[in-house]
Amino acid sequence: MARMKPQPGIMDIALYVGGASHIEGVSDVVKLSSNENPFGPSPAAIAAVERSARNLHRYPSTDHAALRNAIAGAHGLDVARIICGVGSDEIITFLCQAYAGSGDEVIHTQHGFAMYRISALAAGATPVEVAERDRTVDVDAILAACTDRTRLVFIANPANPTGTFIALDEVERLADGLPEQCLLVLDGAYAEFEPGYDGGATLVEKRENIVMTRTFSKLYGLGGLRVGWGYACQDVIDVLNRVRGPFNLSSTALEAAEAALGDRSYTEKCLSENTKMRLWLTEALRELGVGVDDSHANFVLARFGSAAEADACEAHLKTQGLIVRRVGGYKLPEALRITVGDESACRRVVHAISQFKAVAA
Ligand SMILES: *Cc1c(COP(=O)(O)O)cnc(C)c1O
Repeated sequence: MARMKPQPGIMDIALYVGGASHIEGVSDVVKLSSNENPFGPSPAAIAAVERSARNLHRYPSTDHAALRNAIAGAHGLDVARIICGVGSDEIITFLCQAYAGSGDEVIHTQHGFAMYRISALAAGATPVEVAERDRTVDVDAILAACTDRTRLVFIANPANPTGTFIALDEVERLADGLPEQCLLVLDGAYAEFEPGYDGGATLVEKRENIVMTRTFSKLYGLGGLRVGWGYACQDVIDVLNRVRGPFNLSSTALEAAEAALGDRSYTEKCLSENTKMRLWLTEALRELGVGVDDSHANFVLARFGSAAEADACEAHLKTQGLIVRRVGGYKLPEALRITVGDESACRRVVHAISQFKAVAA
């Protein structure tokens, strides 16, 4: 052990485990473990990446003006209150770094996204876990857990890995009840998948204690490029820009994200396919006796009778070339999270789970 000791909290971080993508000895593998867009990025984004190659000797923009303008235009937002990050993960990191330190508490929920806890610990703060009700964020439980040391509350809506959703009036009730030193972070990684939901942007516009985060990694199929953004009141954005590196996003990432945003018809097609196949997958799994909540995102959470059954099913899916996500780390050991793939992938999943159920019965 080296004598140099890291800051308190760092060694409490459990390393993030990403979705697997290979199976030893199996070809024709379908990866359904990271909620990626099964159709890939828009052709317009691919063309932008290719064009950007000719200018790689140039430093990228530091203020991300072009992408922020495109985001503001597409969502009807104030361009000055948008910040772009290396994935929305980086916005989460900025928030913890800027607002939480030693002695401060950061609330996340029982099945909440792993990065909240990791970023809180990395900033030296104390993560506080709050129970959910039936795999759904429980506003009253969060409010009851707040203390005068609570600085940040993270919720994803729709949530990952549960796929559940709480209505905006519940979000507003949460924001209303928070102590005044506390910011609510509304993680909208899957906001686009909920029809008519703005990710909480209108709430951000009328109050100062909500930050919305969004990403190009899910619906827009650009997880490999790492582009996300945040929306908050001007004071919070000014704080976050101080901890942001001036060249945090590459020119390639900025230009591809802008192109992806402009390709509305491609996005619409991906969305409607997701809705159609998610419904089909949900119904088919329920018919096989698998518990599935209505999902508001691009994945479903399949619940089995026990952790052992979920593990055995995952092992069987693997033999069929299907990689799904185990979510024991999210306190859901009896469940598997399955990304909604294209029609052929969904049919393969249902076929493999019906085989598994037939053998188990
Ligand atoms: C995927 C995901 C993110 C972020 O991803 P980035 O690729 O860093 O933008 C954030 N929150 C949740 C809940 C996610 O599932």
